[in-house]
Amino acid sequence: MVQTQIKCPQCGQPIVAEVEQILDTSVDPQAKAKILSGAFNVAQCPHCNFQGPLSTPFVYHDPTKELLLTYFPPELALPRDEQEKAIGSMINQVMENLPQEQRKGYLLNPQPVLTIKGLQERILEEDGVTKEMIEEQEQRVRLIQEMMDMDETALEARAKEEDENIDEQFFAILAQLAQATAGGGDEGGTRKLIDLQNKLLPLTTYGQKVQAQSQEIEAVVKELQELGENLTREKLLELVLDAKDNEVRLETLVGVARQGMDYQFFQQLSEKIDATEGDEKTDLGMLREKLLDMTRQIDEALQARLQVAKRNLDTLLDQPNIPEVVTQNLPAIDDYFLQVLNQELEMAQQAGDQEKLGKLQQVVETLNQASGGAELQLLDDLLKAEDEAAQDKLLEERKDEISDKFLETLTGLMVQMQNGDDQELSDKVRAIYRKALKLSMQTGMAG
Ligand SMILES: [Zn+2]
Repeated sequence: MVQTQIKCPQCGQPIVAEVEQILDTSVDPQAKAKILSGAFNVAQCPHCNFQGPLSTPFVYHDPTKELLLTYFPPELALPRDEQEKAIGSMINQVMENLPQEQRKGYLLNPQPVLTIKGLQERILEEDGVTKEMIEEQEQRVRLIQEMMDMDETALEARAKEEDENIDEQFFAILAQLAQATAGGGDEGGTRKLIDLQNKLLPLTTYGQKVQAQSQEIEAVVKELQELGENLTREKLLELVLDAKDNEVRLETLVGVARQGMDYQFFQQLSEKIDATEGDEKTDLGMLREKLLDMTRQIDEALQARLQVAKRNLDTLLDQPNIPEVVTQNLPAIDDYFLQVLNQELEMAQQAGDQEKLGKLQQVVETLNQASGGAELQLLDDLLKAEDEAAQDKLLEERKDEISDKFLETLTGLMVQMQNGDDQELSDKVRAIYRKALKLSMQTGMAG
């Protein structure tokens, strides 16, 4: 960052501003967030209180995406050769920040962007977020803001009109807004948003589906849990046949018990179909098609997620400083990533590829350090508590440690334990989760 004296864009008096001409994610991990939030190259004038963007050229560089973008404010109106000279010297600096082996062809071909908004869109596009998606998102935020202040009748009418836009994404944004508002301590605003969500659930097609689904999930999970080890293919087939006229229940069953729907399962279904006649045969044939379709969709989604994770891991292993890059990208590390990581570890071990093994181990160590340690420790302490009262006391004392990450860790464990043997432990973790969630909501509401 360079401190420069410039003229205030409003009153023309000299002011000191911090100018960043090189925003490079390999040098400054915050560079991307700065650009996306617009919190960079901002002028603040002590004379006239002007606050706004500085007119200054800069380059944005993200080596992991091989992205080099240049911005030259049109209002500077510099001759072309001077523009090129200015940009050229910034790109030279970018090159100098990079180790020799990472200086690749894209650096010779910077892409100019004409506006800051265009720059933000280009960066998001590289993350798989298109311009249309951004616009849709903005539309949904506007809709939520309008709906917050509507009375029942107006809301009902508007919800009907916008039914197809009030989808999964809409509710996700609504939840994010509520969370952010609660985090900001705005209790009234939070209540309004939660209120809106509860009103929209029964009013909209998607909301009704969610409500029905969560009831079905609860029923199906309970049913499967009661069966426990007695869940055989025959039994699963029975459940599926009972659910054949209930699309939501069927989808839920496939989602929860996909593993049980293997080749033998379908063979049993086929035998059943062969043994029937007429309408029943047609019905069951259609059910089989539906099931095959649903399982295929689940498998495809899984494959796609694994491929993305594999690409992420490959990119990571190419970096000179693996622990640093892993730490910067923790939000991108999910179950799929861990699965791929384990596969690659096994493969490298079998192949005796020491170089790759060493790199993979760096990833594992960094992850171990960064994640779970503190959360699992807290859980362990809670599980060791003598009785309910001791547990409640401990929770209250360590309220500050009940973070989103702690709750996520618990959810992850609960899913893993769902089909496990230790039902007692599973119930204990579930009980702790409920208490922790309640506490965290109270804390959130109080700001
Ligand atoms: Zn000024």
